[in-house]
Amino acid sequence: MADQAFQEISPADFFYRNKEIAGFANPVRAIFSAIRELMENSLDATEPLGILPDIYIRLSFIDDNEDENLFVLRVEDNGSGIPADYVPLAFCQFLFSSKYKLKQSRGTFGLGGTMTILYGQITTNRPVKVISSTGAPKIYEYTLMIDIERNRPIILDRKIYDNSDRWHGTIVEISLEGDYSKAMPKILEYLKQTAIVNPYANITFVDPRGRLYKFERTVLTLPPPPKETLPHPHGVDVEMVYRIIRVTKCRTLLDFMQEHFHRVGKRIAQRFLDFAGFPEDADPRRLKPEEIVRLVQAMRNFNEFLPPDANCLSPLGEEILKAGIMKELEPEFVAVTQRKPSAYSGHPFIVEVGIAYGGKVPSGEDIVLYRFANKIPLVYDESGDVSWKIVKSINWRKYGLMPGMPFAVLVHICSTKVPWKTVGKEMIADRPEVSREILNGIRDVARQLGIYLSRKERVKREKARLSVFAKYLPKIAEFSTRLAGKEKMPDINEILRRARRLEED
Ligand code: ADP
Ligand code: MG
Repeated sequence: MADQAFQEISPADFFYRNKEIAGFANPVRAIFSAIRELMENSLDATEPLGILPDIYIRLSFIDDNEDENLFVLRVEDNGSGIPADYVPLAFCQFLFSSKYKLKQSRGTFGLGGTMTILYGQITTNRPVKVISSTGAPKIYEYTLMIDIERNRPIILDRKIYDNSDRWHGTIVEISLEGDYSKAMPKILEYLKQTAIVNPYANITFVDPRGRLYKFERTVLTLPPPPKETLPHPHGVDVEMVYRIIRVTKCRTLLDFMQEHFHRVGKRIAQRFLDFAGFPEDADPRRLKPEEIVRLVQAMRNFNEFLPPDANCLSPLGEEILKAGIMKELEPEFVAVTQRKPSAYSGHPFIVEVGIAYGGKVPSGEDIVLYRFANKIPLVYDESGDVSWKIVKSINWRKYGLMPGMPFAVLVHICSTKVPWKTVGKEMIADRPEVSREILNGIRDVARQLGIYLSRKERVKREKARLSVFAKYLPKIAEFSTRLAGKEKMPDINEILRRARRLEED
């Protein structure tokens, strides 16, 4: 045992060794993930701050050499920008994030953007360029690399420009290895679906062969911005309570419960402490470790906490979801529904569901399902997702539908803590509270589509019946006139007109 070597690695080193965790397993997946991560940072830097996103993405061959699998990826946005001093840390230090707050956002771990830059660095050995301004009088341009072993940024160069136009936004340019031709279908699908759930964004993509893809906004309204919230007592663990105790100014547990937890008022705090067996005036900073464990366990088991409310969430809303579907799928029929807020293990969530039929809705052999979490499309690993399981379990014939018909189901879940099934963040896990909302949402919109289809079918049948009628009526009229020994034929146009009017009612 004497020569066994123990070693500590930095977070950057950890992700360097475990690239697949963050979606960079191979050149196909890597180029997809790079675009996804930078785009999501741009969306997070615009929409929640009330800025209509303008995002420009350009992927080009490095040094214009088409034979190589090396690319330059440039993403520009008109977002908040990053204060100059934070740029190196935000992009070149793992687990550095402005999103460690309890409210809905796309990123959470301080991982995605940094992982993208690390991947670029280890595949091309070239630095990242970041140009950013918060709208202040200066624009900063950094050239950076990551010191992987120390998880620190290395600043290679810094330039400062005047910002007379008060431009705000961020431009990130990296070099990376990738396989664009194989990744292309997923990338285009991802962009299209991003446009569905962000119809208030202008997204432009120029691919390495110079093809231009443009997704233009059709609405000017943004979803309600999420508000920061306190943790719900059902959703905390011992570590989190430790951290709160370390910073609290409260001197009694009664104050502590009300000050640091979501929707705990005085009365509920009293009832809870009574239930948990702690005196109201106990000093939280004096709790022994085993008492903290007991407190957290009691929090989990106490049933009288109010459910979390949903203003830390930022769902799309029915109007925006509908607009997004109309814009990208141009369907003949669309129905959307937003379920009431709900919660699992103290984490609030909202499910939104849509269904689209006809028009440009694709029809596959199987049912077409679009999945979204916190306004991010999920385009990989469909068959492991809870929504797929639910879609497959539904008896579609009941609604006059069959796989293969041109209809698509859209499921969006937003939450402060999306119940991911794996670290890859592509599949939603099967939590009973969540699946119930998804199922009820799908049933609701499927019913609406069913009604539309049966009405359409009836009209079609009536039309067919009328046209048969219109064809034979003159002959019948002629025949019966002769049979009755009369000269003058009745006015059949009047009869047809009346029949048509009946049908329209
Ligand atoms: P995460 O998005 O999970 O926080 P990232 O590594 O992707 O982690 O980004 C780290 C931080 O850098 C973000 O929390 C954000 O503060 C900042 N950032 C990244 N991209 C942008 C951008 N385009 N505009 C403004 N800030 C950004
Ligand atoms: Mg991110």
